[in-house]
Amino acid sequence: MAKLSLKNIDKIYPNTNAKAVDNFNLDIADGEFVVLVGSSGCGKSTTLRMVAGLEEISSGQLFIDDKNVTNAAPKDRDIAMVFQNYALYPQMTVYQNLAFSLILSKQNKEEIHKKVMDTAEILGLKNQLNKTPNQLSGGQRQRVAVGRAIVRKPKVFLFDEPLSNLDAKLRNSMRHELKILHQQLKSTMIYVTHDQIEALTLADRIVVMSYGVVQQVGTPLQLYQYPDNLFVASFIGLPQMNFFDVMVTDGKLKSDEFEIKLSQQHIAVLQSKMNENIILGVRPEDVQIGIDLDFCVNIRENLGQYTLLHGTIGNTEKKAVFKLFGWTEQKSGEKLKLSFNSQKMHFFDARTKKAIR
Ligand code: ADP
Repeated sequence: MAKLSLKNIDKIYPNTNAKAVDNFNLDIADGEFVVLVGSSGCGKSTTLRMVAGLEEISSGQLFIDDKNVTNAAPKDRDIAMVFQNYALYPQMTVYQNLAFSLILSKQNKEEIHKKVMDTAEILGLKNQLNKTPNQLSGGQRQRVAVGRAIVRKPKVFLFDEPLSNLDAKLRNSMRHELKILHQQLKSTMIYVTHDQIEALTLADRIVVMSYGVVQQVGTPLQLYQYPDNLFVASFIGLPQMNFFDVMVTDGKLKSDEFEIKLSQQHIAVLQSKMNENIILGVRPEDVQIGIDLDFCVNIRENLGQYTLLHGTIGNTEKKAVFKLFGWTEQKSGEKLKLSFNSQKMHFFDARTKKAIR
């Protein structure tokens, strides 16, 4: 178990100009599950690999339990990493795969056996110990890969997209297993993914990155309810939040598509934006049948508990998607009147793209 501190960390790869990671700052508490999320190429893996010591830190400092390990070799950081492609030894049995790092570190036989059996118990691998990786399913292989990390009892676990090679169903069940594992081990874990569902469901705190820069750090709820900027607002949430260009004027939000009367509370928040254009964000679920805007249904998707309606606003081509609870039966071309949930509207500065609160 360990706490980590990443201070002003930059990464510039040789022969490149742009920073792959730009001034990354984060304190991670002992036992915390932190998920780094963002689109491909945003610097998540590079950050993780710098923590592991697999990639040099160009500038800045890394502390594990207050010890400066910025330049320490990977083996001296007491960290274990799990990759998406398992990295198991194909010719070895599950038992041997689990025992391998302990044999290398010259632990005695009984101790190794106990640790391997404890790990196999935690991961439900006791009946697979004599098999080789090619005799296992994808999920079992990934469990062995996780086991190889657990068996060493490292201070910190690093996961680099560990579930992305699995099919959707297995991904869900492995996600649950990882959550339970974290609850059991109470270890510090840093997990990289491009999948916001994994981020929302696994993390104590999520770090959203874009182009090497941290956009926001917060609990899943903070990021969902109070995104700091347009990027986070659009990245977290599925389907994505709807955005509308609106003008704040006469106590209203006016757009080409609709006019909405503002509450006193909103007028206070938007005081400095009177007669200016801002961006209004509305999550698909934050609407109800109402009075404020016309919505023409284009496609309906019934998903059981709720229905997604894709369509256009007013008489314009402006697209939006809304989520109605329950199974509804609107037809293509049908017109609805909707209202936004005024407590759940998000406002963003049109120029800086930052949230206005
Ligand atoms: P992510 O994990 O978010 O997909 P990466 O950390 O792998 O992103 O990459 C961040 C940026 O650094 C990308 O622009 C990528 O092209 C670049 N990059 C990654 N590895 C190298 C490398 N070895 N040499 C040069 N550029 C690299």
